[in-house]
Amino acid sequence: MKESKDLNNFNAHDIKISKWIEDHREEVISFLQELIQLPSVNPWFNPKEGESREADVQELIKKRMEGMGAEVRQWEPSAAALAKYAGRPGYYADHKFEGRPNQAAVLKGIGGGKSLLLTGHVDVVPAASGWTKDPFKGERLDGSVYGRGAVDMKGGIAAMVMALEAVVKSGYRLKGDVIVGTVVDEEAGGMGTLDFVDKGYRADACILTESTDMKIAPLCRGILWGKLIIPGRSGHIELPQGDWRDGGAVDAIGLARVFMYHFDRLNADWRVRKVHPYLPLPCQVYVAQINAGEYPTAFANRAEIVFNAQYLPREKDENGLGSRVKSEIETFVMSVAQSEEWLRENPPKIEWLIDADCGETPVSDPFVQINLENLQKHKINEIIEGVCAHTDLGWFQEIGIPTVVLGPGNPRVAHQNDEFVIEEDLIKLTKLLSTLITGWVQISKLPMERDL
Ligand SMILES: [Zn+2]
Repeated sequence: MKESKDLNNFNAHDIKISKWIEDHREEVISFLQELIQLPSVNPWFNPKEGESREADVQELIKKRMEGMGAEVRQWEPSAAALAKYAGRPGYYADHKFEGRPNQAAVLKGIGGGKSLLLTGHVDVVPAASGWTKDPFKGERLDGSVYGRGAVDMKGGIAAMVMALEAVVKSGYRLKGDVIVGTVVDEEAGGMGTLDFVDKGYRADACILTESTDMKIAPLCRGILWGKLIIPGRSGHIELPQGDWRDGGAVDAIGLARVFMYHFDRLNADWRVRKVHPYLPLPCQVYVAQINAGEYPTAFANRAEIVFNAQYLPREKDENGLGSRVKSEIETFVMSVAQSEEWLRENPPKIEWLIDADCGETPVSDPFVQINLENLQKHKINEIIEGVCAHTDLGWFQEIGIPTVVLGPGNPRVAHQNDEFVIEEDLIKLTKLLSTLITGWVQISKLPMERDL
């Protein structure tokens, strides 16, 4: 039988669990469809009426977890109660959580195994325009499921829940505890995870099922958004202006070009210095927006360059954030300003908009290693590649939980129109997680279970 050759890496229990998943393919896929059909756009994005149903998504997961015998707790985070984290990652004093519960579903083990936290966020970004499919229908087409959240990250949530269900319904009991932690508010800064960690949930290891194309990601990068404000002085663009000291105009757009030229220079340096063996991209300062000028007959009075700069886990400060990299950029900007007399007297300013944290679990950690072996078992290429963007990994790593990001689908389609996940990837991840559970948490047969 062809199948037996593919399965010769597995124990009898893994084969049985894997068969359960095969037999319940349709159920795994329809669970994802149900999750997509409950729009859960983060309220920070001002979604349309009825499109912000994070609580209903939690309820759906809750029912499924209770069906497995899990004890499920829901609660609403409170910014006031988290005020002690001011200045730390994920804390935003103005975020509100009425009707937006976090959730922890705990499946108690019988003892003798290690504990595992499976985690993900239930909020999504808005659908926005340009979809050719209904973003909240979960349509199936040519072996893929389409919809907002398909990879980011309802696909990952469906897989973690169904992997556990496969283990339990195949007649096994967990030795270690497993917690399924589903949080709100990741898409607007990660306060849900901060709150989850604050509530004291801990485990020997953590899997975050954000999409990684089935690569093992033991790290992610920190992200800074900044706005560089360059002052100018408006004046008639067609007439002689003379020296600025005598009241002449100063073209803020021309000065913005100076900064952009120097950003290229900075990036050339960062390309060499700010690299990581497990990241495909070096850190760079990317210009994302340029806002300048008011009308066609005047030099720009002011120019703004909105930029995105990334930082490595090794660059984090003592609060777990990117203040060192912020200072580095500020010093660089001020040194550029020194080359222009106008700017020496009218210095530019940087407003910092976002600092999203990062983290890293060493590849030598036993949990990263067991994940690599697990991929090997499933004959999936064992690729270690960190996530170049921010994920909620930082807080788990900060409190000492070895954490790996591992999820289905191409992360590039996250936040895109016609976001989709390939059904086969969803099933593959469900199987992968099931054998990770049997290997790490370990299982025991139920008393009535006949020997395999
Ligand atoms: Zn996500």
